[in-house]
Amino acid sequence: MSCLFCRIVDGEIPATVVHETKTTVAFRDIRPKAPVHVLVIPREHVPNAVDLTGEQLGDLFAAAKEVAEAEGVSETGYRLVFNTGPDSGQEVFHAHLHVLGGRKL
Ligand code: 5GP
Ligand code: ZN
Repeated sequence: MSCLFCRIVDGEIPATVVHETKTTVAFRDIRPKAPVHVLVIPREHVPNAVDLTGEQLGDLFAAAKEVAEAEGVSETGYRLVFNTGPDSGQEVFHAHLHVLGGRKL
């Protein structure tokens, strides 16, 4: 499998994993745009966020909430972003939820 994020899920490419569930993995973005910048992804390969099932979306948001709590940004607030398609700047075509916080955005 050549997908970068599938390889992170499989442990073939190192990443700083901060949270895991049966269906999701969360790890630090390699080029953080904020003091807290974590990517939450489904273990299953789905190219775009809009193609995720309701259950997968629920799992990603539940994981993002726990990541925000663990990172200490629950009270200060954070931004949740899905980039979808070329004009959004999406680089990696394995759905991922950005969790950004730790400064005024
Ligand atoms: P996108 O632009 O597709 O929404 O976001 C992809 C994100 O993945 C970018 O913020 C980028 O910095 C991050 N990224 C790209 N390659 C790697 C990598 O090998 N490891 C990690 N941890 N993050 C990566
Ligand atoms: Zn993938």
